[in-house]
Amino acid sequence: MKLSIVVPCYNEEAVISRFDDQVRSVLGGLAVEYELCYVDDGSGDGTLPRLRDLAQRYPRTTRYLSFSRNFGKEPAMLAGLKEATGDAVIIMDADLQHPPELIEKMLDLYQLGHDQVIARRSRDGDKRLRTALSRFYYRAVNTWVDVELADGVGDFRLLSRTAVDALVSLPEYNRFSKGLFSWIGFDTITFDYRNAAREAGETKWRLGGLVNYGIDGMLSFNCRPLRAAIYTGLSLASLAALYTLWVIGAALAGGITAPGYVTLVAIIVGLGGVHMVMLGLIGEYIGRIYYETKRRPHFLVKEADGATRPRTRANGTAAPPRTPADAATATIAAPSQAG
Ligand code: UDP
Ligand code: MG
Repeated sequence: MKLSIVVPCYNEEAVISRFDDQVRSVLGGLAVEYELCYVDDGSGDGTLPRLRDLAQRYPRTTRYLSFSRNFGKEPAMLAGLKEATGDAVIIMDADLQHPPELIEKMLDLYQLGHDQVIARRSRDGDKRLRTALSRFYYRAVNTWVDVELADGVGDFRLLSRTAVDALVSLPEYNRFSKGLFSWIGFDTITFDYRNAAREAGETKWRLGGLVNYGIDGMLSFNCRPLRAAIYTGLSLASLAALYTLWVIGAALAGGITAPGYVTLVAIIVGLGGVHMVMLGLIGEYIGRIYYETKRRPHFLVKEADGATRPRTRANGTAAPPRTPADAATATIAAPSQAG
């Protein structure tokens, strides 16, 4: 069998060579054919030159793609999955937070017939506040969404060819992998490992990014927030009806007494807030529809396996696609369809 390792890299010059050494030494000890598929996600540092070096040193087992700019980890993973040719694919971060020693265990479980082998990390070494917030978030979100999202389960996993083909066939533009992995299903097994600290370089996550990611998780897989909006509206309308009855009753019994100025202001401002939240919610969904309808490619490739991709030939016609990933990008990017 052949194993592909997909590695999204964004500004990882400090650690990429060490990662490559460690993974190769693990893979060398296993009796499998393998390839490493690096995806440079528009890094601004020396990541790409390092990938070129690696491809030159190990031409048979190294492949790489480089994006025209930073598209994000999700498109980078998608590109890697499209590029990978193995019977099984493992997605790993470049920062050695995903211990290469676990590859053997993953392969063993794959050979037992599992399509997804998930490594779930502990939260050792994470900031306490972040751990508590994550716990709370996953508990809350799992009561909402239709797919199961688990704490500590990320992109570090082995996928069989069947699972990879299923993922690649999902065409959506807004990709929330955690949900997609869970959505495709198949025979899945999870094991735990101790979280490792990043070896070098720094995390790309900021608090704002995490909050946005959290909102994506809630909205990507269902329309239940819209239903909650309906229920909120109904409850408020019922409250208003009861209050009206009460005011009319009080007026009949005791005559009109208070002008109720403060009550009015509070209600108007409060309801205005509720309306804005609901509009924002609807807007979020419309925004998503907007991006989906553009049908833009998920990423653009500027260089792959040592060759700058020829976008046009001398006579102006597009060059024929050369790899499956290239083909996908080229078809979607054709001028007639691009938004
Ligand atoms: N990454 C990427 N594109 C981005 C951000 C991150 O390809 O825009 C890669 C990064 O190089 C690393 C992996 O995604 O290999 C995980 O990123 P990071 O370590 O910053 O996230 P964390 O481990 O803190 O969740
Ligand atoms: Mg990391």
